[in-house]
Amino acid sequence: MTAGAPETTRFRAFGPRHIDTIADRYGLPDEVRETVRRISLVLPFRVNSYVLDQLIDWDDVPGDPMFQLTFPQRGMLTGDDEDRLGKLSADPADRLLLREAVQEIRGRLNPHPSGQQQLNVPLQDGDPVPGLQHKYRETVLYFPGQGQTCHAYCTYCFRWAQFIGDADLRFAAPDPGGLLDHLRAHPEVHDVLVTGGDPMVMSTDRLRTHLEPLLDVETVRTVRIGTKSVAYWPQRFVTDADADDALRLFEQVVDSGRQLAVMAHFSHPRELATDLSQQAIRRIRATGAVVYCQAPLIAHVNDDAETWSRLWRAELAAGAVPYYQFVERDTGPHEYFKVPLARAAEIFADAYRTLPGLARTVRGPEGGDPASIAFDAVKEGIAEAADVVLIDTAGRLHTKTGLMDELGKVKRVVEKHGPVGEVLLVLDATTGQNGLVQARVFAEVVDITGVVLTKLDGTAKGGIIIAVQRELGVPVKLVGLGEGPDDLAPFEPEAFVDALID
Ligand code: SF4
Repeated sequence: MTAGAPETTRFRAFGPRHIDTIADRYGLPDEVRETVRRISLVLPFRVNSYVLDQLIDWDDVPGDPMFQLTFPQRGMLTGDDEDRLGKLSADPADRLLLREAVQEIRGRLNPHPSGQQQLNVPLQDGDPVPGLQHKYRETVLYFPGQGQTCHAYCTYCFRWAQFIGDADLRFAAPDPGGLLDHLRAHPEVHDVLVTGGDPMVMSTDRLRTHLEPLLDVETVRTVRIGTKSVAYWPQRFVTDADADDALRLFEQVVDSGRQLAVMAHFSHPRELATDLSQQAIRRIRATGAVVYCQAPLIAHVNDDAETWSRLWRAELAAGAVPYYQFVERDTGPHEYFKVPLARAAEIFADAYRTLPGLARTVRGPEGGDPASIAFDAVKEGIAEAADVVLIDTAGRLHTKTGLMDELGKVKRVVEKHGPVGEVLLVLDATTGQNGLVQARVFAEVVDITGVVLTKLDGTAKGGIIIAVQRELGVPVKLVGLGEGPDDLAPFEPEAFVDALID
């Protein structure tokens, strides 16, 4: 990593066609160069001189977290896909086959998770408004067409489909007209999140055409700008030719009486360690805008509590607000990055414990009380039009009054969104009389609608379920015959009784 004086050069992006230049300049091993070349046929790849010179530690490549965050890696596609891309790209005669393979692999990577292209898109006079998403009542997401790229791309990006040059997969508004009509028709929407890509890739003049009209809409109270530029190109607020103009535009929003929130995106403490990023935050804050920080917890980049603790402390020290830690979505190379939710909750809790009070503004996959996590999950499920939201409250000892009270609260809070469809008590087939006691206590706290009898694949026969069924008067609905999701099967009373008396 080259530390030193602030970068004052013009922005220049490097993509797949520059991989040889990058490899030669920074000493990338041949196999890493080849991996980047193959995987970037499918997934977007873009870096810039600041990321290359000031954020990546080239002595630690390929394990370096910033290298992992910005360069395609082996394992992001299956070995078979990577081999196939290697073979097809080696022979120019296979160009057509290569294009088909790329399309097919992209299709398998779930480019628009949760049907986001169809769901949550508001209608105006019966037609979808392009470049708008409406997940929550008060907030609209706005994707200005000219802001649908970034100063560098994150390898985990769950909006990667925006960047692969396929107009059908792209979310973008040509101008703010549709947004303004929507806001005027919906005075209940107070909060506009301008997002992308990264709106800060636009020149200030262009950005102004999207922001200024919002100031004429009385009902808009908060303008949020989602941006990774403070981390990937802080020059945008410091040395770019129109950096000062951008800050004046921010002041204009603040002076209009609106809240301006810069939703900055930092994934690793190193992104806050440069003079430029510190200056950028200082200059943004001087406009009256508040810098909120958020990022996903992802394997290979920041999947340990120590990194998050340093990150949140660095944000606080810079005068920004640690705001949110989220988890990877099921799109793109998510298998490569995913961290099990239980582990994510542990990392969050371990990092949170180390924080001074002022940094405890941060929220994450765990850390609040279980009822509020369940509440958020159901809210998100409704916003995503999910068929079912499954809340697993496992690990609750019926002998602990606090945990039982918590369980009751989870159900009460979730019911604020609507009726709870099923409350299933999960009992091990290995459980003896204790199972009956558990069932009684649980039934007192929540209205159980059915029982799931697990571990029936072993020698245990689960006879206790007969007493439990009599006591609770609810049916056994499912049996567990293993540990995979497909091992859950409908309960068959006859087969169960046969097995019991065998
Ligand atoms: S900055 Fe945001 S939108 Fe751009 S690549 Fe990274 S995660 Fe995706």
